[in-house]
Amino acid sequence: MPELPEAETIVRGLADRLPGRTIVRVVVTHADVLAPPLTAATLRKRLRGIAIETVERRAKKVVLATKGGGRIVVNLGMTGRLVLSGSPRARELSHVAVRFQLDDGQALLFDDVRRFGRIELHDAGSWNERDAALGTEPLSDAFTAAHLHELAQRSRTPIRNWLLDQRRVAGIGNIYANEALFRAGIDPARPASSLTIAESAGLRDALRDVLAEAIVARGTTLSDYRDEQGEAGRFASRLQVYGRAGQPCIVCEHPIERAVLTNRSIFFCGSCQR
Ligand SMILES: [Zn+2]
Repeated sequence: MPELPEAETIVRGLADRLPGRTIVRVVVTHADVLAPPLTAATLRKRLRGIAIETVERRAKKVVLATKGGGRIVVNLGMTGRLVLSGSPRARELSHVAVRFQLDDGQALLFDDVRRFGRIELHDAGSWNERDAALGTEPLSDAFTAAHLHELAQRSRTPIRNWLLDQRRVAGIGNIYANEALFRAGIDPARPASSLTIAESAGLRDALRDVLAEAIVARGTTLSDYRDEQGEAGRFASRLQVYGRAGQPCIVCEHPIERAVLTNRSIFFCGSCQR
């Protein structure tokens, strides 16, 4: 499932191609990817002739800012892909749900096999509300050790679950939560409130490092994720715990363990993580 590094990779790839382009037509093939109450008719009507000004990321979302303060927000879900029609791999897409036709002859294609992805359309006001409900960006200057520690103090939920809550820290999913907790030497099941300031500092650094390294590698592809050119990311081979149950810990050689915590897997080293 795409997380912050995957959305960031797509955003960087689109950021030098989409700004300045005008949407000439929107074709909706599968309207179930439109977030209610948005309909295909509304999307077509409101976006025809609208210029794209910037491409940004917020949490795990790709955000296209349009002239007049509007936002097209793409939640990639499980299998969502945003691919430019001119890229060589675009013809491999088999489940295009929405096509944004642009004035230069290209199109931005939203493809989604399982259709858990969602497209939202906002005006400036509703986007501000949506944005305000999301937590701190972990790569921003605001994400300090003291900030993480103060937020975590308020909750007794397991730290892995806490990291997945987009209202606290935005953009982290299960892969990078597990990876960062391993790097920081913290047991994923520990209450968030039990983290010391030193552990919070270690976790903050681990999160920023793993996210930055994954962005350089253009994201993690376990099966479905593709970038805006339709290419897989390369970070999967550098995962240290996620998906490595039974394999030796890279630090102590103790086998990596897998358990289920609140219906989702955790991967950890029982020796290195306390
Ligand atoms: Zn270990």
